[in-house]
Amino acid sequence: MSEPNRKLKPATLCVHAGTHLDAGTGGVCSPIFPSSAYAYPNPAVGENIYPRYFNVPNQRVVARKLAALEKGEAGLVFASGMAAISTVLFAHLKPGDHAVFQADLYGGTYHFVTAELVRFGIEISFARKAEDFVASTRPNTRLLYVESPSNPLLSIMDLAAVAKLGRAHGLLTVIDNTFATPINQNPIELGFDVVVHSGTKYLNGHSDVNCGAVVSSPLVIRRVTECAVNHGGTLDAHACYQLERGLKTLALRVKQQNENAGRLARFLQAHPAVARVNYPGLPEHPDHAVAARQMRGFGGMLSFELREPVRVAGLLRGLRVVTPALSLGGVETLICVPAQTSHVKLSPEERQRAGISDGLLRVSVGVEDAEDLVEDFAQALETA
Ligand SMILES: *Cc1c(COP(=O)(O)O)cnc(C)c1O
Repeated sequence: MSEPNRKLKPATLCVHAGTHLDAGTGGVCSPIFPSSAYAYPNPAVGENIYPRYFNVPNQRVVARKLAALEKGEAGLVFASGMAAISTVLFAHLKPGDHAVFQADLYGGTYHFVTAELVRFGIEISFARKAEDFVASTRPNTRLLYVESPSNPLLSIMDLAAVAKLGRAHGLLTVIDNTFATPINQNPIELGFDVVVHSGTKYLNGHSDVNCGAVVSSPLVIRRVTECAVNHGGTLDAHACYQLERGLKTLALRVKQQNENAGRLARFLQAHPAVARVNYPGLPEHPDHAVAARQMRGFGGMLSFELREPVRVAGLLRGLRVVTPALSLGGVETLICVPAQTSHVKLSPEERQRAGISDGLLRVSVGVEDAEDLVEDFAQALETA
């Protein structure tokens, strides 16, 4: 199936959407097109194929699959999540424009916005809730940018409210859907214009490819492609193939990760050494009602706070199945300490204001057996 049938369910789209039919052999997998030189004028397609033009068949396969999964009409794949994000922003902002970003942004996006965008005379503000986006909007505002669930506190933004605000003022609404994945949340159906992803995380899912993606309307994707050709963040055919292969099991993996994370969240919440668990699937989570309204599953990410931060090192040392590592979204369960990693450059006061305590741990829950994960945390908390 090359042109996806929109009525098919996500798990079916994961397997079949976008596949490049191999008419020569009847093979069921997309062939890999490694060439960086193609005959011109090209008798087969009438355009000049070149990897940096984002038109190699393997790039299109993944773009079609992701567009189908995200309920958008068109897509583009990139060499990293940051290449996708920076290209979308450069494609739509110019000197004198203003954009509003969610306050608890992914660190790389925060650095890009505050170190690069501002150098080009683009004004930026930060907002914490949907109401703050309304209050931050100025006559020169062009774009609203959100992440939900957010990193590492798993706060949830009311997406329909932000999309409505964008529509009312003619602003481009962009969401980083990396944490939720298209299996748990489809922001375009809630009114968003553009979805961006770090494909490095759940989409590829095996912690072995760096990639990114954008899904939107054909008009937006045409503009992003013009800009992308100049910026050059192209993804090569082999990596595209790996991403396509990873995507075939996205629905299966995320279903298991949702289940495992829910189980682990409830275990941690009941543990006497744990002060607090941040997981949108818990009824106690402050944004649980919003999450339940806009998500089909609550995701594989959670964070929790130890009552005694001095026990963090002991806990990490004691884990046998779970690995202390950055990154997320893979089949293996990973744990990290935001105060020592993603938020290490902030001052203690800034960290406190951001809600990042020294005892906070972030977990990317994998697809292992949930009982083994619970058991691993139980024994490590015992000895920490
Ligand atoms: C990792 C990540 C990114 C950046 O993606 P790269 O593939 O590392 O460039 C952006 N947003 C979120 C939410 C992420 O987790």
